[in-house]
Amino acid sequence: MGEVDSAHLGRVSALFYNMSGATYGELFEAWIWAEGELADRAARNPDAAVRQKAMEPFVEDGEHQHHDDLAVYLEAHAGFHHAVAGLAGNRVLALSLETYGQIVAHHVAVLDDPRELSNVLFDDHRNIAKAVGAGHSRQARELMENHLRGVAAYCRERLNSALDSPVEWL
Ligand SMILES: [Zn+2]
Repeated sequence: MGEVDSAHLGRVSALFYNMSGATYGELFEAWIWAEGELADRAARNPDAAVRQKAMEPFVEDGEHQHHDDLAVYLEAHAGFHHAVAGLAGNRVLALSLETYGQIVAHHVAVLDDPRELSNVLFDDHRNIAKAVGAGHSRQARELMENHLRGVAAYCRERLNSALDSPVEWL
């Protein structure tokens, strides 16, 4: 079996969203809900040791703070969301719910350089990682939703297309 990468599923999904006329507004809404759900489930993962180990690299400050290389930066950002999804305890949900963020990342990466956001994003990640590690599911969901509302607002300003225009097939 080849490597399972939800980015590929995201590419296929984006084509279907495009054909159905689904908008960027709908994509952002789905994304914020999906990541909140994953964070909530991750915090409710019954194995505290597994939770803490998975979140440890993001609680500790440092190595993922400054990336001059855009590809490295995007990978570091996606790495956190992938780690949260991995704790959610359901591979079907993890794979499908991760696709929204992958589509957004793909669209924003080609439009603009998201590194400006970097410090805010990694502070958010640290707080979410702490909540997930501690098993605080409601807090994890709220922090994740707020985190992505901020990212979505940033993306909206920079999208060439209006929010009510269909998701493009890139
Ligand atoms: Zn993030």
